[in-house]
Amino acid sequence: MKIKKQIDWPVALFLTLNPIVGLTLFFVYIYFFDTTVAMWIVFLVFAALTNLSITAGYHRLFAHRSYETNTFMKFILLFFGSSAFQGPALKWASDHRRHHSHIDTEKDPYSIKKGFWYAHMGWLFYKESVDLAIKAPDLEKDRLIQHQNKHYLLWSIGTGFLVPVLIGLFFGAPLGGLIIFGSLRIFLTQQSTFFVNSLCHTLGEQTYSKEISARDSFIVAVLTHGEGYHNFHHQFQLDYRNGIRWYHWDPTKWMIQLMKLFGMAKKLKTIPAQEILKAKLNSEAKWLEAKGISAEKIETLKLKILETQNKVKKFKEEYQQTQAAWKNSSQEKWNEVQLQIEEMKLNIKRAKAEFNFALKEWQMYTQLATA
Ligand SMILES: [Zn+2]
Ligand SMILES: [Zn+2]
Repeated sequence: MKIKKQIDWPVALFLTLNPIVGLTLFFVYIYFFDTTVAMWIVFLVFAALTNLSITAGYHRLFAHRSYETNTFMKFILLFFGSSAFQGPALKWASDHRRHHSHIDTEKDPYSIKKGFWYAHMGWLFYKESVDLAIKAPDLEKDRLIQHQNKHYLLWSIGTGFLVPVLIGLFFGAPLGGLIIFGSLRIFLTQQSTFFVNSLCHTLGEQTYSKEISARDSFIVAVLTHGEGYHNFHHQFQLDYRNGIRWYHWDPTKWMIQLMKLFGMAKKLKTIPAQEILKAKLNSEAKWLEAKGISAEKIETLKLKILETQNKVKKFKEEYQQTQAAWKNSSQEKWNEVQLQIEEMKLNIKRAKAEFNFALKEWQMYTQLATA
């Protein structure tokens, strides 16, 4: 006999009633009362800080330890993170680590294999998910995290509803504050996080591994403050970035970089470009072979790309070292090494051309296989 899953009523009721009651009150409120542009600006800033504290704090700092920060910043991240009503950081990070190590299996707490809705927020309705044992010994030692975990209701109600009422009071609209900065903000920011577990495992490309459900998508990245490059993230969870190119939409990455600029973040972890390209090529190679392209040809081309990429790196390093070594030397000596430096520049150019040529050839095969 199959035992029915038990509903966790407090969580289930909050997740259902907050949007229903909150949205109803919101429409009633804006019908009877005026809101100002300043109020909506505060709403946007508060909502962005809430989501960024989840993505840069709960996710990339606590769950993955992809960078380090100081106690003040940790407090700020926990303060706004609590206001999102997504549970204590300890529980959130522990569930998320399970998701990474057991992706797409029975042990994945929000496995997409159980359906879009289940991965999105359905999993949170059940006791077995809410009561899932916590496994994060490193975080359990952190006193701030411990405090937030122990007094979570105080943290969440204080930051999620009380602070909104106080901000509302400043605008002479405490009720508006409760509804707009409180309820509406919580509903919208929760949905943004929930998309990471549903849409990020449904929409987009499987760039680095076709064996897992996680996907890379620009549209989802916009909806989730940069978490949409999720196939990359599952492949390289230690990297503080999710969007690795400068133009990839990843406000969380930009926030961490900004924190670093102000001395609030250090030891930002990144995966070397060589390793990233290798994972992409390995994944595509398997697929090209399955499409009937000669394995030998693919392997040779793959090695050529990686080898020329290495060459560019090596030549660039040599060039920088030589330039630094002779920068402050006499004019005479400088003229002497000038030729050597020009030659090095040429070597870099040549290696880059070789690399681009090999990569173009590879792209030609992938286009052929797609057609
Ligand atoms: Zn995921
Ligand atoms: Zn993650």
